[in-house]
Amino acid sequence: MENTIHTDVIILGGGPAGLTAAIYLSRARVKTLLLTEGTPGGQMTLTHEIANYPGIEKINGYALGSVMKKQAIAFGAVVKGNVEIGSISLVGPVKSITTSDGQTYTADSIILAPGGRSRTMGVPGEDTFKGRGISYCATCDGDFFTGKEIVVVGGGNSALEEAVSLTKYVTKVTIVHQFDHFQAFQHAVDEAKANPKISFVMSSTISSFYGNDKLEGVKISNLVTGEETDFRTDGVFIFIGYVPNTETLKGMVALNERGEIITGSDLSTNIEGVYAAGDAVVKKYRQITTAVADGTVAALASADYLHSLNRK
Ligand SMILES: Cc1cc2nc3c(=O)[nH]c(=O)nc-3n(C[C@H](O)[C@H](O)[C@H](O)COP(=O)(O)OP(=O)(O)OC[C@H]3O[C@@H](n4cnc5c(N)ncnc54)[C@H](O)[C@@H]3O)c2cc1C
Repeated sequence: MENTIHTDVIILGGGPAGLTAAIYLSRARVKTLLLTEGTPGGQMTLTHEIANYPGIEKINGYALGSVMKKQAIAFGAVVKGNVEIGSISLVGPVKSITTSDGQTYTADSIILAPGGRSRTMGVPGEDTFKGRGISYCATCDGDFFTGKEIVVVGGGNSALEEAVSLTKYVTKVTIVHQFDHFQAFQHAVDEAKANPKISFVMSSTISSFYGNDKLEGVKISNLVTGEETDFRTDGVFIFIGYVPNTETLKGMVALNERGEIITGSDLSTNIEGVYAAGDAVVKKYRQITTAVADGTVAALASADYLHSLNRK
């Protein structure tokens, strides 16, 4: 076929799961191509500091992604970032991916590692003020709010850790959380509570965002009393969870009701030769370490599958 490049394994997604799979496969001399939408490193590139990756006390997320990419390339993997995926076919023994520039890539095995993205609140004004006061990334936008008072929405690890990181720039952070308790690790709760710049509005949510050219304030609703209060602010950071990037995989591979990819213990999917890894699969804990572990398992299982094909 013209315009087609064949390789042993194609990895879709260049976060820690995909990059780890690329390291393992290329090191095992498996011809590996990693295609990713966005910057290699995935969600890691959105966090200013990673302090829970074993063996490295503290590292910037972008830097950790760059090292993983460098390692994969050094072992022979081809890594293509900022690629737009056009079409995907997982049927039959030869799988194929066509990118929006018309290039078709085929492979005997595929590892799906598309990760996830921030969940939005879906309340009035959110779309209007996205990028004009509303942000989903402290690392990317924290500096824009230097000297200001801001709001953080959420009560998980990301919300509390990013609220603490934002206190480097801002004078005050008000955390608005829908429950009367947090879903974060105790150390993250303790750190946020000990920070004098952070205060809490519990059992509440933002019901709307308002402003003119830029965000000027929010309405905060108390979910117990129903009372709505006006809160003037230039900035709101939203950290309320994630959505798996599996919309384009619907109908091609088995997904659960939340859109997460269903896998076996070796991270095989319901399609022969297709494996999945990282935040996009059904699992409880989504961390870099769990993504890296998945990448390892999926790569080894995919390599075994290729080996079994050669034996047939
Ligand atoms: C703000 C923030 C802070 C965090 N801090 C920490 C932390 O301190 N410690 C920690 O352990 N974890 C942290 N996490 C979580 C961690 O980053 C994720 O669990 C991890 O990155 C998931 O890795 P992944 O490889 O599954 O997916 P991702 O990192 O999401 O990467 C997937 C990549 O695939 C691309 N993609 C999507 N769809 C396709 C497709 N169809 N084809 C090709 N490519 C596609 C995406 O654009 C993305 O680049 C943080 C997350 C965020 C958002």
